[in-house]
Amino acid sequence: MILYNTLGQKKQEFVPFEEGKVRMYTCGPTVYHYAHIGNLRTYIMEDVLEKHLRYSGFDVKRVMNITDVGHLSSDADTGEDKMLKGAKREHKTVLEIADFYTKAFFSDCRKLNIKTPDVVEPATQCIPEFIEMVQKLLDTGYAYISEGNVYFDTSKLDNYYVFGNQNEDDLEIGVRDSVTEDTAKRNKTDFVLWFTKSKFDDQELKWDSPWGNGYPGWHIECSAISLKHLGEHLDIHCGGVDNAFPHHTNEIAQSEAYLGHKWCSHWFHVLHLLDSTGKMSKSKGEFLTVSLLESKGYNPLAYRMFCLQSHYRKPLTFTYESLDNTTLAYNKLIAKIAAMNNDGEVDEVTAQVYIAKFKEALDNDLNTSLALTCVYDVLKANTNDTTKLYLLKDFDRVLSLNLIEEANKLRAEKEEKACAVDAEKVEALIAERTEARKNKDWATADRIRDELNAMHIVVTDTPEGIKWHVADR
Ligand SMILES: [Zn+2]
Repeated sequence: MILYNTLGQKKQEFVPFEEGKVRMYTCGPTVYHYAHIGNLRTYIMEDVLEKHLRYSGFDVKRVMNITDVGHLSSDADTGEDKMLKGAKREHKTVLEIADFYTKAFFSDCRKLNIKTPDVVEPATQCIPEFIEMVQKLLDTGYAYISEGNVYFDTSKLDNYYVFGNQNEDDLEIGVRDSVTEDTAKRNKTDFVLWFTKSKFDDQELKWDSPWGNGYPGWHIECSAISLKHLGEHLDIHCGGVDNAFPHHTNEIAQSEAYLGHKWCSHWFHVLHLLDSTGKMSKSKGEFLTVSLLESKGYNPLAYRMFCLQSHYRKPLTFTYESLDNTTLAYNKLIAKIAAMNNDGEVDEVTAQVYIAKFKEALDNDLNTSLALTCVYDVLKANTNDTTKLYLLKDFDRVLSLNLIEEANKLRAEKEEKACAVDAEKVEALIAERTEARKNKDWATADRIRDELNAMHIVVTDTPEGIKWHVADR
């Protein structure tokens, strides 16, 4: 599989450290609010990546953290804690907020057919691991203590800006946004590993550490959780592109300083979802969530398809008009599948040709729009419906659009409707027959009897009136 690697900034062959096995890490949500559909675009594309790796025969282990402590409102270690902000907003404890929004996040994921990673680890469950890592960084001289906090010393690295040139600009933004620049650090890119003092409101959750009662910085959690569950050699690390700097840059700095060797070989970043205000955020514009889309009558899977229609490395602009178009396309696709008859045998030779094309599309830097084109090619293919249905089911292992399930649902609904119409027709015929008999119009009564017979309707006169049922065939 060819995949773009942010480390090196080029497409390259994806080669895991151990043959056949993939160790995959995903930055999870900070559970202080609902996820907006821009966040979820990233999780959808990561889900497709994971499923495609499995489809290609890799044995994948995927780990995700849940940030329930330590994520400040600015990624540059300044500002209030996001969790504490959420708790204050809703007059709840931090743990109540974390529990509520963790559940909300996975509920959204289920609706979008995003598989839950093999391991999901809340940061608050890994405090001893964080402390151990920070201690080693202090022991080896990569970290220092200043005004009560433990900092990572980025000047100890030969190359801090691992992802290339755009980072200086990002950093400027970070500095400008922060109201209070941290004067305790030695270099402007240094970041907090462990807080015991904050300029802002105090944390609700704190733990004892060798450096005093406090709480972990945000960046340390992903390194420690990844090392805990996936070992010293990570094959692929995923996240939204806004995480590349400073979050992922800091993860690499501290992980490689800790390990003394290269840590993660491949970095997968999904570009932003834009709305009319520009980059989607929780604070400006309409707060676009899965629930909001549902309340407007959209199927969440139409949003998944909308994401698959464009490449993960291109920014995607969301409008209701474009979601309407995708919904139309999705419904048409399902209707076509529902009209198929599964009554033949799979033509293996033809199937392999289409499977190869589908795999080739995704092997080329996860070209999901081309993979969707493969679905339409199958519909037009010169083969029987059974082969088509077999292929659609196979592709849906990666696309997860519920192609077969939704088609079956549609067919069942149609059949139910057909039955309802028949019942009305039968009642009308019986009424007509009764009327004809009353008028001694035997010719009409006989004709209706024949018609009912042809429909396999058995009519019986009972003391309670005329009853009918469909004869067992
Ligand atoms: Zn992370």
